[in-house]
Amino acid sequence: MNIPELFGCMVFGDAEMQARLPAEVYAAIKQGSRLSTAMANTVAAAMKDWALEHGVTHYTHWFQPMTGVTAEKHDSFIEPVGDGEVIMKFSGKALVCGEPDASSLPSGGLRCTFEARGYTAWDPTAHAFIKDETLCIPTAFCCYNGESLDKKTPLLRSMQAINEQALRVLRLFGNEQVTHVDATVGAEQEYFLIDKAMFLQRPDLIHTGRTLLGAPPPKGQELEDHYFGAIKPRVSAFMKELDLELWKLGVPSKTRHNETAPAQHELAPVFTTVNTATDHNQLVMELAKSIAERHNLACLLHEKPFAGINGSGKHNNWSLSTNSGQNLFEPGDTPHENAQFLLFLTAVIKAVDDYQDLLRASAASAGNDHRLGAHEAPPAIISLFLGNELTDILKAIEMGEDYQAPGRARLKIGVSSLPRIPKDSTDRNRTSPMAFTGNKFEFRMLGSAFSIAGPNFVLNTMVAEVLRQFADELEQESDFTAALNTLIQCTIKAHKRILFNGNNYAQEWTLEAKLRGLSNLSDTPSALQVMLAPQSIELFARHAVLNESELHARHEILMQSYRKTIHIEALTMLMLVKDAVIPACVAYQNQLSELYQRKGSEFDSSLERNLLAKIADLSAKLPEQISALQSEKSLAAMAALRQTCDALEALVPQQLWPLPSYAQLLNSI
Ligand code: ADP
Ligand code: MG
Repeated sequence: MNIPELFGCMVFGDAEMQARLPAEVYAAIKQGSRLSTAMANTVAAAMKDWALEHGVTHYTHWFQPMTGVTAEKHDSFIEPVGDGEVIMKFSGKALVCGEPDASSLPSGGLRCTFEARGYTAWDPTAHAFIKDETLCIPTAFCCYNGESLDKKTPLLRSMQAINEQALRVLRLFGNEQVTHVDATVGAEQEYFLIDKAMFLQRPDLIHTGRTLLGAPPPKGQELEDHYFGAIKPRVSAFMKELDLELWKLGVPSKTRHNETAPAQHELAPVFTTVNTATDHNQLVMELAKSIAERHNLACLLHEKPFAGINGSGKHNNWSLSTNSGQNLFEPGDTPHENAQFLLFLTAVIKAVDDYQDLLRASAASAGNDHRLGAHEAPPAIISLFLGNELTDILKAIEMGEDYQAPGRARLKIGVSSLPRIPKDSTDRNRTSPMAFTGNKFEFRMLGSAFSIAGPNFVLNTMVAEVLRQFADELEQESDFTAALNTLIQCTIKAHKRILFNGNNYAQEWTLEAKLRGLSNLSDTPSALQVMLAPQSIELFARHAVLNESELHARHEILMQSYRKTIHIEALTMLMLVKDAVIPACVAYQNQLSELYQRKGSEFDSSLERNLLAKIADLSAKLPEQISALQSEKSLAAMAALRQTCDALEALVPQQLWPLPSYAQLLNSI
């Protein structure tokens, strides 16, 4: 197999566009200029011809509504001409704009039923591709008046914001060549794989994505023998097919390995610009699920499929890169490069401190609430890890002191060179929610099922805002170097409370963070509330990322989704108790009491009597706990009922228990 040839063969990418489009049309797309109708017609015809060569019959606007998954509505290319005949046609109009209606997708009240139509608009910055014999055209999704109904629109707007402000800062450093700055992202994806047949025997996994009941297995992840272990043949076959299909779609899947929990795995691609990375991550999740099916496996993307065992997250590696390929978080070698690096770095420090609540909110969901702070993922407290070397350098700058070695000259930003900052490898801190890893930031709070669009538009916008403030200030100064020194020094002083290199899982950190005045928004409702704060409304409005009504709508959608998730979980649990737990307990108690009676006084029946008593005692708790959950569909009521059910599961023989156990689920492959 020729992988370089296979890579991207299902993408209408740069090479295809260059080969199939007139030079001026190709140039217009690359420059992001508005296309005339004639130009759009040309692009549509070329796309269609390319698609037909691949046996495609349909096209769809492919978009990312607030459900967090992608949406598509297929139309065929056929167009009747004359008597009973058709041609294959695709117009520029159909390429550029769609009216999928899509009135049942969440809008948070942004559209009333009489104007329920939703519109899709082609995003020429993302490449069209073929999936499932259908030409998929990445689009934004909005209402009639342009208000966004999707995850993609604010992300694209935030890319403009960060581009604009980063360019202002680069100009201050005398850089006139760079014409564009993009956020780059590599999203590491964790997931579980279990046998499909076993998955189908667990209504909780089917309906909620996580197990709502389940006694702990004798062996979980205690021995840590799964992490980086040899990959089992069935899993390996799945991973190979997934990689191949992703490569065809131009997704640069690079790394695959077993993760900490049994049955848990990870995939990481090579980073790319954030809008493409967002599309790619959606494809990774979608294909992982569908390819798992072909291997009689179920791919679980939920943040916490199994209690007591590590859940799954998504590490969002984020950086800024110029169109000439310079990574703005690469410290560089010259004093000039160092100064620029330090300014961008302090911008992130200030942004993470100023907007810690928003960043936290961007990682909030019902599923992720089970993970954050559970000693497997960062706590709900935002802090920034810089590593010892960089922290010492910043300390020296803040104090205006010599750096480390006595006698070493005072670090004058823009004049002297930074000492080498080793890329973190040995002192990597895996407990930090946001870690600087040498030339990028790794935001580790995201849940595995997330669209990465949300966290990234928040990151882009908050950093853009601080760069704006910096540029506003520095543009006024006549002595740039002196002003830069002061600005960096003052910023470190004002925001150093957000820097933390220690163990984020430790109890002491929670106390210290409180003393430092850092937020600790432990659940989704309290985290999401932050979206409505005046500071958030102003931030997103100023950078034209979301207006106030869009922000309110988003808050409403996310809160509704949170409430509905818990409601569905509660109902599923009640169903499981009725259909599985109670019948199993009744059957076992029947067996025991029958034997107990038959034994009479002739044989010792202490075992039966004992077990019967224990099960009867536990079962007696059920009625009250069931009615509590029926009347109040809350996490607390679910936890209480679960405790009883799991204790019963531990007593009832496996062959009478209708649900596969944790031990079976985690060792199903
Ligand atoms: P880890 O040890 O956390 O797996 P890696 O070095 O393998 O770290 O990188 C993790 C991810 O970071 C990969 O997806 C990689 O492509 C991405 N990455 C590397 N450089 C950048 C960058 N400049 N911007 C965004 N992501 C990056
Ligand atoms: Mg990582």
